[in-house]
Amino acid sequence: MSVTIEPAPSGRAKCRACGRAIARGELRLGERAPNPFGDGEATYWFHLECGARKRPEAAIEALAACTSLPTDAMELRSLAAVGQAHPRLARVAGAHRSPSARARCRHCRQQIEHGSVRIALDIWEEGRFGGAGYVHPSCAAEYFGAIDDLPTRVTRCAPEIDPSVLAELIADLRGTGPG
Ligand SMILES: [Zn+2]
Ligand SMILES: [Zn+2]
Repeated sequence: MSVTIEPAPSGRAKCRACGRAIARGELRLGERAPNPFGDGEATYWFHLECGARKRPEAAIEALAACTSLPTDAMELRSLAAVGQAHPRLARVAGAHRSPSARARCRHCRQQIEHGSVRIALDIWEEGRFGGAGYVHPSCAAEYFGAIDDLPTRVTRCAPEIDPSVLAELIADLRGTGPG
């Protein structure tokens, strides 16, 4: 794997983590890996903050090798260090109301109630994030190991989140929510 931090030459590339475009001229994290769909290598791009949250190992390696550091390099490094210490945090992919009672929590293995808020997980494999199930907000502290900035992680990956879902998530994380 080789990594890089460089300015985006156009505004066309989308961040693999949040799906939004990376603005022209903005520094971005690039991760080169063998192309799973053909020959040669593919480069996957991330906003720096998204990369520090979702690809902490790559972000730390790229920051260490970068000669013209971004102004927020220290914050990015500490964000990535938290991700290294608690690797499951990189799985946070969003939050939503459970559309059914079929899914089981990856932590406690109990069903997640229909209509209750659940945290969605994903895992990076071969150049894409694949869905990896859900956890109860009440199980988040034990599952992730650190939940101080969990709402920020959720909104970073899911900027369109319903405000009522976010409010319920925050309440559940504090242990004051229903259930
Ligand atoms: Zn992003
Ligand atoms: Zn649970």
